[in-house]
Amino acid sequence: MIRQARMLLKEKFGYDDFRPLQQEVIESSLARNDTLLIMPTGGGKSLCYQIPAMMRPGLTVVVSPLISLMQDQVNQLTEAGVPAVLLNSSLTPEAYARNVRQVSEGQVKLLYAAPEALFSPRMLPLLDNVKIDCLAVDEAHCISEWGHDFRPEYRQLAEVRKRFSDSVCMALTATATPRVRQDIRKILGFDGNAREFLASFDRKNLFLEVKEKQQPLAQLVNFIEKFPNESGIIYCLTRKQVDEITLVLQRRGYNARSYHAGLSDEVRKTNQELFIRDDVPIMVATVAFGMGIDKPNVRFVVHFDLPRNIEGYYQEIGRAGRDNLDAHCLLLLGYGDIQKIKYFINQKNAAEQRVATLHLNALLGFAETEVCRRKPLLAYFGESYPAESCGMCDNCRSDNRDIIDVTVGAQKFLSCVKRTGEKFGTGHIIDVLRGSQSQKVLKFGHDKLSTYDIGKEYSKEEWFRLARQFLHQELLNQDTEFGGLAVTEKGWEVMRGNLDVQARLDPKGPTPASADLDSTEYDRDLFELLRRERKKLADAADIPPYVIFPDKTLMEMAARFPQSEGQLMGIHGVGTMKLRKYGQAFLDLVTAYCREHGIEANIAAIDLDLVSSSGRVPRYRVIGNAYNDGKSIADLMAEYSIKQQTVLDHLYKFWGEGNALRTGGLEPLIAELAAEQVDAAITAFDTHGTDYLSPVFEALGKTLDYEALKLIRLFYLSSRS
Ligand code: ADP
Ligand code: ZN
Repeated sequence: MIRQARMLLKEKFGYDDFRPLQQEVIESSLARNDTLLIMPTGGGKSLCYQIPAMMRPGLTVVVSPLISLMQDQVNQLTEAGVPAVLLNSSLTPEAYARNVRQVSEGQVKLLYAAPEALFSPRMLPLLDNVKIDCLAVDEAHCISEWGHDFRPEYRQLAEVRKRFSDSVCMALTATATPRVRQDIRKILGFDGNAREFLASFDRKNLFLEVKEKQQPLAQLVNFIEKFPNESGIIYCLTRKQVDEITLVLQRRGYNARSYHAGLSDEVRKTNQELFIRDDVPIMVATVAFGMGIDKPNVRFVVHFDLPRNIEGYYQEIGRAGRDNLDAHCLLLLGYGDIQKIKYFINQKNAAEQRVATLHLNALLGFAETEVCRRKPLLAYFGESYPAESCGMCDNCRSDNRDIIDVTVGAQKFLSCVKRTGEKFGTGHIIDVLRGSQSQKVLKFGHDKLSTYDIGKEYSKEEWFRLARQFLHQELLNQDTEFGGLAVTEKGWEVMRGNLDVQARLDPKGPTPASADLDSTEYDRDLFELLRRERKKLADAADIPPYVIFPDKTLMEMAARFPQSEGQLMGIHGVGTMKLRKYGQAFLDLVTAYCREHGIEANIAAIDLDLVSSSGRVPRYRVIGNAYNDGKSIADLMAEYSIKQQTVLDHLYKFWGEGNALRTGGLEPLIAELAAEQVDAAITAFDTHGTDYLSPVFEALGKTLDYEALKLIRLFYLSSRS
């Protein structure tokens, strides 16, 4: 089974290996277990139901809340040669009728629909008459009131599930707390056999950086200068801010557009489309932008203002680097912004204040940490980051030269907290330390304390910065309701002189060595040519460029210079269908470029016959069937003028697709080997399995070569199935 899944991965999507958990999830679903998958954005959830859908006889219904997202997926599948359609109200009556016909005639493997559409009078009779093998629920967290994006229409899925009780269900989401996960399982009626897979939330290719906001516009421009021609998103808090920044960037000659709820649907749609299609690289937006954006080549995300909370931040940076190439996430941390948010929080009722304060503190804990940023970020999602340093955040890359010893300052601060009775907030403590004559200080008689006026060595701003770091280092606790500080056990150790304290007094300087994130070596000129060709093809087909090939594919072409179809097929992201549709255009370009510059291909060719193409019966099937009809290995070698090894490879492939092989045909070849060696190899296959040959090769002390092992493996498999 999984062999076939792997073949489809290469043939339809052009990928050689599964990403973490994909194989497990596919296996679970094919074994007919209801399956819940929680995987961060960009992790590759879609393949997990798309590949099983291609392998099943009937239909897979995919429920998704966003039309744009569905359309995008249908486009991508169609491009890859997988029959998929969308049914929703945005279609013309003709298109709707055509799609319905295709579904009812069993011509499509995947049907995408919004949850409410499944109950429309047009849809129900249709679905009752086709065999539905799987119900895939995307963005499954929308089912739960406890999630951050509850959609009442998702509740109806309970009903849908009952209707299709024979089908297996797969639920997928990028965010789900334990509570939400429980809701998903319950509402979708998952039983005791259901499996759950939780992927790591660590997005290794995102470079995380936080900088103190000082001259934000200059900081922004300096930053985006490092990404010529690359796509990126700049998030702002308000619409006004969005418009201003767009204008500033446009005046400076940047190709940027805005996106926020204040613009008309028309304008928003156009701007989004321009961005997706690589016509406009920079999008300045409020958080309204991004849901349902599948664009894989977003190279940077800037938070010009403080995000609402960690979950929001994580989702927004998650739009960067979905192609798994490095991307840079910059957050500008303005202390004025924090005060503004605190002000808004204070307007809320007590319960809301508590939640909002918790969120803010968690976010600041991330933004102001001195350790690897992945630690607080992943801790928020209940994951602990094992390594000391990730090498992909500003803290891990900085040389820490501006971290200094502040033990004495910490002792002063902590004892002032103690002496004022552990109920005052940071501002008041600083007032006391700096000898303020404020009313509050005098009213409580805090000017009489021994800690009064002993902290002039730091400015008010510096004390604030230190106090926040003391909090993050857990020398202090803060009351979430009133902001009162209290000294922790660890803080006591500092006061007793048993523990030193390090902190950063100055705002951070520039991060070293983060601009050249892309370490991939490829020919930039050729890449540009390929990119232009891709854009031309995409515009002609009216689809986004990445639907043709992701950047990574073009980079690989520009690094390995494939000059034949077989070589091109070896490139990441090139599948059979894409090869047929676009292969020649790119090959022509690469070949001409290589001729001009005297460059040779740097990639092995793949035997195209070994990869089936949808237009004709693949060679391995022809050979497999002929063999089963009684042809001998020698016959086949002669008929197709191929080596024995190639015949065996074809048969192995044929078997891997789930076909049985007749017995008797391999015996003459087996008989040429020493019987005891064959027996030993078979025992070794029993022990080590047949997926890999090297363990068997080692187990036999390297006495049999791989050709012989392949033969014995095929003999072993065909005599056992
Ligand atoms: P999600 O739905 O989890 O956000 P997608 O399914 O959209 O993620 O996948 C994100 C990107 O990763 C897509 O461009 C997809 O083609 C790519 N991708 C998925 N699986 C693989 C894989 N096994 N190898 C390489 N790329 C993959
Ligand atoms: Zn780090």
